[in-house]
Amino acid sequence: METIYTIPVNDAYNAESECPLCLLRKKAEDNELDYYLGPSLMEPDTRKVTNKTGFCPDHMAKLNKRVTNRLGLALVIHTHLLDYDEDITEELLEAAPAKAGLIRGRSSDYKAVLKDLADRIDKRTASCPVCDKMNKTIERYNEVIMHMFSHDAGFKQKFLNTKSHCLPHTAALLRTAASKLSQNDAADFVTALAEGSNSYFKELEKDVEWFTQKFDYRNKDKSWGNSKNAIQRSMRFLSSDRGDFNEG
Ligand SMILES: [Zn+2]
Ligand SMILES: [Zn+2]
Repeated sequence: METIYTIPVNDAYNAESECPLCLLRKKAEDNELDYYLGPSLMEPDTRKVTNKTGFCPDHMAKLNKRVTNRLGLALVIHTHLLDYDEDITEELLEAAPAKAGLIRGRSSDYKAVLKDLADRIDKRTASCPVCDKMNKTIERYNEVIMHMFSHDAGFKQKFLNTKSHCLPHTAALLRTAASKLSQNDAADFVTALAEGSNSYFKELEKDVEWFTQKFDYRNKDKSWGNSKNAIQRSMRFLSSDRGDFNEG
């Protein structure tokens, strides 16, 4: 097993967190964002990709927040606009149906044309090399976790002691466990995953409930306990950490 994967996995499971895979995801995402804002920005091969794909809305926002090289980002956006424009504008200009009664026989298929064009625009908007590479890396991390769970007793113990995984990453782990683990390993793995999930659900439910009860004037002077960041922790559990769920 390559150490470029096992070391970060061990680090993530050694760190205190609500989901080690969210830590790994964040690291992979940061690497990709740095890559696309770094020297690769001017490389023809990279540009060939980004001209076509641009970035998804989420990563567009993250690049915008992170960028130190305004000119570089402007060049990427410019050639992406040119590519997109050339791809769809003419079609869009021709998509309007003829007005009813003006040209016979032309209007019947306009709905399919509009839907196809809409699908194509949606697909282009969602396409993103940061997502693609990040998802591939996370998939690899998932497989490495399975391998280490069944071959590395130290790691197995760490996994059994892990407090929680967010729900999207729980789904990813279940899916990978189904294809990679033996039935005996899956028994231990899924039990640990389920127990972590069960107790974190209960903890969050209690903390969020207390958060809502703090709005009652009778509880005004009582302690917040662990409730102050309960909404943020719940959002991270439900949706994976996106960075903008953070308490600050
Ligand atoms: Zn997660
Ligand atoms: Zn993306």
